[in-house]
Amino acid sequence: MMKINTLMSIINNEIPMHTAESWDNVGLLIGDTEREVTGILTALDCTMAVVTEAIEQNVNTIICHHPLIFSGIKAIQNHGYGEIIHALIKNEMNLIALHTNLDAHPKGVSAMIANQLELNNIEILLPDQTELCKLQIYVPNHHAQGLKEKLAATGAGKIGDYDHCFYSSKGHGEFRPLENAQPFVGNINEVHVEEELKVECVFEPHLKQQIIEVIHQYHPYETPAYEILTFTLPAQFGTGVKAHLPQPMMLSELAQLAKAKLSLDVVKWIGEDQRISTVGIIGGAGVSYMKDVQNKVDVLLTGDIKYHEAHDLMMMQLPAIDITHYSECVMKEGLKRLLDALIDVPVIASSVNTNPFNVY
Ligand SMILES: [Zn+2]
Repeated sequence: MMKINTLMSIINNEIPMHTAESWDNVGLLIGDTEREVTGILTALDCTMAVVTEAIEQNVNTIICHHPLIFSGIKAIQNHGYGEIIHALIKNEMNLIALHTNLDAHPKGVSAMIANQLELNNIEILLPDQTELCKLQIYVPNHHAQGLKEKLAATGAGKIGDYDHCFYSSKGHGEFRPLENAQPFVGNINEVHVEEELKVECVFEPHLKQQIIEVIHQYHPYETPAYEILTFTLPAQFGTGVKAHLPQPMMLSELAQLAKAKLSLDVVKWIGEDQRISTVGIIGGAGVSYMKDVQNKVDVLLTGDIKYHEAHDLMMMQLPAIDITHYSECVMKEGLKRLLDALIDVPVIASSVNTNPFNVY
């Protein structure tokens, strides 16, 4: 058995909450961190029918993509969204939202749509930028190992599946202690030369303060010499995916293929019919990224394209296919597969259709 807080830390390790957009509301929205997880239902939206399904399936945890509690909730009453919140609490259920952090994941919602379309070479379309810091510190030879251990204990020098990653180069440090100095080595008013190592390592920006404290606590010198540099690099997560069609096809054919593979009631496409080889997909509503996507792919697949946005796409000569926002429902099965690989708790994909639109 697994408690909610253990489940949350496993999820956070794989689909980090900090990769969500700042306006988003992800994580454990309703629940008890000490409660045992009896099973998980994955859903696109947490509607009353989804809560009923979870109760019938005997699972006490719902993981949905769209957050039920979003911004500025002022009252929880016995109708509307409040009724769903009441039902979750009354039935001792947990509700977790994985929204833009699941979008940003390399195997997230857009990649799940690409898999459903059986596309190849799936990669992040618009990688985010991430910041990394680098420490360069000069330390007497005999104290280098001890300092490295203290730095490593904070998380400095962790790269991918490796920790304690340092680079050291030999050199000579030179300094003259002045009247008020209390030097660890050397004499007042005499230039001293010491054999030192330049130790370098990278670390996450949030560790900076802790690392500075460790330096001042464990470096033997009264005034340790060091630099901390900050630089940006492409992240392993981002917006949308870019993928290849197994065979080039016409835009109209791709629209038909998307309609069939994504079980769409209707499909709308924008642009002159033309040959397509590379596809950009942004699950949900991604048309606001049209300028960033232009020239990167032959076509943009996203949902919620409005009339004037369709004209803008025409003007940019960026063909697009409106796969509807509800095409994100492939995340129910997709997230089940991701979770099955991580945990032993039973995971069920919701069979409730939460598409609010009906068409003739
Ligand atoms: Zn969405």
